[in-house]
Amino acid sequence: MSFPSSDSTDTRRPVEGLSHSELSAWLDARGLPAYRADQIRGWLFRRRVDSFEAMTDLSRRLRQALAGEFTVGSLSVHRRLESRDGSVKYLFGLHDGGVVETVWIPEPDRVTLCVSTQVGCGLGCTFCATARMGLKRNLTQAEIVDQVLEAQRRCPDGTRISNLVFMGMGEPLANYDATRGALDVITDARSGMGISPRKITVSTVGLLPQMRRLMEETRVNLAISLHSVRDSTRSELMPVNRKYSVSQLLECCRSLPVPRRKRITFEYLLISGVNDLMADAAELAGKLRGIRCKVNLIPFNPHEGSGYSRPKEAVVERFGETLRARGIQTHVRRPRGDDIQAACGQLYHAAEAAPGGALRGVG
Ligand code: SF4
Repeated sequence: MSFPSSDSTDTRRPVEGLSHSELSAWLDARGLPAYRADQIRGWLFRRRVDSFEAMTDLSRRLRQALAGEFTVGSLSVHRRLESRDGSVKYLFGLHDGGVVETVWIPEPDRVTLCVSTQVGCGLGCTFCATARMGLKRNLTQAEIVDQVLEAQRRCPDGTRISNLVFMGMGEPLANYDATRGALDVITDARSGMGISPRKITVSTVGLLPQMRRLMEETRVNLAISLHSVRDSTRSELMPVNRKYSVSQLLECCRSLPVPRRKRITFEYLLISGVNDLMADAAELAGKLRGIRCKVNLIPFNPHEGSGYSRPKEAVVERFGETLRARGIQTHVRRPRGDDIQAACGQLYHAAEAAPGGALRGVG
C-alpha cells in the first residue's frame, strides 16, 4: 500500500478522498478520457486494491502519474482485538499519529461496521470514553472511507460488510462535509462501494441544522442519542442539550423529511440510578408520541473512570415493557465485545495506559 508517510514533505493526497468529478477533472486536465475515473474507482472501491500498480488495465504512464500525486489508503492497523462474540475492533493509525477505532460486528444475517468520524470528540458526553480525549481533529473523507475498505480487506473469509453505522469516535454531523462526502462514495452504486443508504445509519447527539440537512440530502437512517427527555438529566449527560433542548430536538424530529416507511431511531443508554426509573420510561413514551420512531435501549457498558453503572437485567426488561405497553417499538441492544472494550474510546484509553506505549506495534 502506498500509505503516506509521516514525512511532512510528502504532499500527496489519498485518491479515495476525491469525488468522481474531481478525479474526472484531474484526468481531463491531462487529456485523458472521463471513463478512466470509473475504472480507477472500480479498482479502489469494488476490487479494493491497495496500490496503483495493481490497476493493471491502466497504462504504466497513468499509474505513474497517479502515484506522483496521490496515495492509496490513509490508515495503518496498530491494534486488532477479537472478542469472544466474534466482534473485531481495529485501532487504526493516521498519518499524523492520531488514532481512531472501527468495529466489525458479525451477526447471523449481516455484518455491521461501526466507523469513526473524528479523532476524539469535543461534545463532552459524561458517559463516553471518547469525550475524555477532547477533539483532536476531524477525519477527512478519505479516512472515513478507508475504515470501510481496510476492514473489508482484512476479513479473511471474504464476508461482505452489509450495514454501516456512524457511531464510532466523534459526532458525524460536527464533521458534516467529510461525512457527507464519504456517504456519497459509500452509496454510489455506479462507481463507489454500492452499499444501499437503507443499510446505513448515522447517529447524532442532535445537531439540529445538520440533522435536517442530512435528511434532506441523503436517504440514510437517522439515530439520535436521546438518553433522557428531562432537560436537567440530559444536560448533565450531554452538554449539547444546553444548546438544543429536548423540546427543540423533538420538535425538529416531528418535522424532518423522514421517508414514509422509515422511523427515526432513538438510542437510550440505560444508566443505573440516572435515567432508568419506570417514571422515566413513561415520560419518554409520552414525549415520543406522534413521532414515527423506535427506541433502542442500551444497558450501559461500564468503563474505568465513567462513574456510572449498568442497571440490573430486570430493570432493563421492565423499562422496555413499559415503553412497549405504551405503543413504542422497543429493542434492547446488548453491548457487543465487552471483553475487548468495544464502547467507543475505550480501546484508545486502554492502549494509552499499556506499558511500553499504546500504539506500538500490534498489527
Ligand atoms: S457520545 Fe458521541 S458525541 Fe458524545 S462525546 Fe462521545 S463520541 Fe462525542
